[in-house]
Amino acid sequence: MQHENTMEKIISLAKRRGFIFQGSEIYGGLAGTWDYGPLGVALKNNIKKLWWKRFVEARSDMYGMDAAILMRQEVWQASGHVSGFSDPLVECTKCKRRFRADHLEDKKKCPECGGLLGDEKQFNMMFKTHVGAAEDASAISYLRPETAQGMFVNFKNVLDTFHPKLPFGMAQIGKAFRNEIAPRDFLFRTREFEQMEIEYFVTPGEWKEKFEHFRTEVWNFTKDIGLSQEKIHELEVSDADRAHYSKRTIDFEFDYPFGKKELYGLAYRTDFDLKSHSEKSGQDLSYFDETTKERFLAHCIEPSFGVDRTFLAVLTDAYHEDELGLKPSSNEDGSPEAGEKRVYLKLSPEVAPIKVAVFPLLKNKPTLVEKAREVFEVFRKQGGAVAFDDNGNIGKRYRRQDEIGTVLTITIDFQTLEDNSVTVRDRDTMKQIRVSGENLERRVSEVLAGVKIFDSF
Ligand code: ATP
Repeated sequence: MQHENTMEKIISLAKRRGFIFQGSEIYGGLAGTWDYGPLGVALKNNIKKLWWKRFVEARSDMYGMDAAILMRQEVWQASGHVSGFSDPLVECTKCKRRFRADHLEDKKKCPECGGLLGDEKQFNMMFKTHVGAAEDASAISYLRPETAQGMFVNFKNVLDTFHPKLPFGMAQIGKAFRNEIAPRDFLFRTREFEQMEIEYFVTPGEWKEKFEHFRTEVWNFTKDIGLSQEKIHELEVSDADRAHYSKRTIDFEFDYPFGKKELYGLAYRTDFDLKSHSEKSGQDLSYFDETTKERFLAHCIEPSFGVDRTFLAVLTDAYHEDELGLKPSSNEDGSPEAGEKRVYLKLSPEVAPIKVAVFPLLKNKPTLVEKAREVFEVFRKQGGAVAFDDNGNIGKRYRRQDEIGTVLTITIDFQTLEDNSVTVRDRDTMKQIRVSGENLERRVSEVLAGVKIFDSF
């Protein structure tokens, strides 16, 4: 199947080039966990930085948070997760494999061995643990299945320390854990993942307006990270499918190679959480409006973004095999050879883990290497997302940089030693242009900032 083929190639590239490794790989792997390698963590951090910039730094109504993963069990009782955060589970009576009942077409027959499936049971997805040395019921805690509750339980702290007026929001990026019955599709459904969430508090009357505001902002964020807009679709979630706390939800779905699946959610959570926590904790979590002299519970709009699903969307969207059937050959000059495929990641400069790579044309010419090191240092001092590569012939080096999505490569050759000019190559078009030394820094930063297109060199 075509999409399986594409996913296999992407997973293999992600491993080969140091983006993503299987969790606990040397022990045979741990299902539903993945480890981010050096390039993966760089790309992931770029995504998180863009999110934080748009939703926290660029606004005056947002308060950043980083709450503890472990929380008192009462938090999850009040939120409804202890009683209701479960998926329907069925087990095959023959091969004993377990499946999510709502993902099966035939709820009676095992999709693996054809055996009879047992009765449907509710399986709670929270990872349970004990805090401290005692293992009694009072010590029970859970790894958080969402970051949201860390913000609701701190609502009063933010109110008391910063005295914000409604509307205002709290934002957090952090790990979440769900003991998924069937983790699958690489980073899409995992048991440990990261979320970027906002709880935006409003007066009950303004929820519709703010819901629309965040609907637009979700789209704007997908532009920040360079996702193809035509691959994103909104889905109005029906009454029957909405989470217990939500009065309106829009899912933002993305065309992954394995199908159209949820990337983000935008939900109107009403005052459900603040109300439950007020009742359970006995603390007053209401808001007093100085103008109207009214005291009430704030309502909440929640845009929720999965970091790993974003990473996967960015990676699959960026993966390209040259339509021309060309790849950089092993020719010294890196020119393409007919009949072979070139693989490259068309990442936007904002998310690309390496923006610029610097090559000396030949490894064994100290004058070229020294000059290339000098140029490399200039870009490294600017921010670090730069690579130095003198390993193998230039064609191989281009291929390596294309596969990791490096935006521009700069080659130092013999002409550089004469007139200080260099060759700059564009990843997407493979076009090469001669740029003078004094213009290099400015020209490169313009291209990376998207101010000038490569053609303007
Ligand atoms: P699904 O229906 O796919 O299980 P969900 O509706 O339960 O997802 P939410 O509870 O809305 O997901 O979680 C918010 C966001 O967290 C999702 O939009 C997604 O980006 C991310 N997310 C949720 N579950 C996982 C998971 N198992 N692995 C990776 N990301 C996840």
